[in-house]
Amino acid sequence: MPRQGSTFLEMLQGCREGNRRACGQLIESYLSLAEFWIDHYFPVLSPHRDQVIVELLKTSIVDPGGLLKSFQGTWEREFLREWRLCTLRLCWGRAVYVHDAAPTPLLRDQLAGLLKGFPLLHQQLLWFHMCRFPAGELAQILSMRPEVVEPILSKARARAVETNLPHSSGGQIPTMPPKLLVEMDSEKSENCVSIRLLSKIIDGQALWAEKEKAEGHTADCLYCLSNLTALKETILKLRTLPAANPLRIDNFLNSTMGRPEEKKSFGAAVGKLFKRV
Ligand SMILES: [Zn+2]
Repeated sequence: MPRQGSTFLEMLQGCREGNRRACGQLIESYLSLAEFWIDHYFPVLSPHRDQVIVELLKTSIVDPGGLLKSFQGTWEREFLREWRLCTLRLCWGRAVYVHDAAPTPLLRDQLAGLLKGFPLLHQQLLWFHMCRFPAGELAQILSMRPEVVEPILSKARARAVETNLPHSSGGQIPTMPPKLLVEMDSEKSENCVSIRLLSKIIDGQALWAEKEKAEGHTADCLYCLSNLTALKETILKLRTLPAANPLRIDNFLNSTMGRPEEKKSFGAAVGKLFKRV
């Protein structure tokens, strides 16, 4: 939730109106998350992280065609799902030359084949494992006992070898290519589960019947599984990441909106920064 006493919607509205304080609140509330996404999913971009953040803030928050202006939802978790996607998409565009060079990345149908038939909870475990979350964190995110994690991973390793998945010859489960996380967003169908319902399920507030139906669908749908795991990741990180350093918030605010007395210099500053990425 936004700090400094505003509601999420007040903050969003303030940002849309170009209110400097509201934009500062948004950066304060979510900067650590964006930094986590960049470092975790695109370590190759970590040395350029600040430049990526400036571009992310500019394209998603300030630009007239950006996320903030087009966002139709009213809810923080819906916004964060979209913002995570914006971050991954932007990073993918920046890092593509590195990933293109990676030998035989895992393909969408191979991922579906690997997960097929596993119960939904186990699919989530495998998903997080493939996204390089450490075992202790997996158990925490999914409220599982650490000792049940290894047998599930073993079973998936055997399947990866059996079906000859990329990099499985050494008994490894392939890692999740960030490209798949981005592409998965285009798979939404009319039966897909809303972010609100997935979120209610995570919070233990869904009715039994709606939970059963939604989970049944999610176990067979990469789009919904991707959303479910993204929500769980975001909720955990929002709770556990350290607050952003006030000096950094101020710097990003200046880079995004310009210093109060020199607002027009922003575009030039971004152009200059990104020639170096
Ligand atoms: Zn779905």
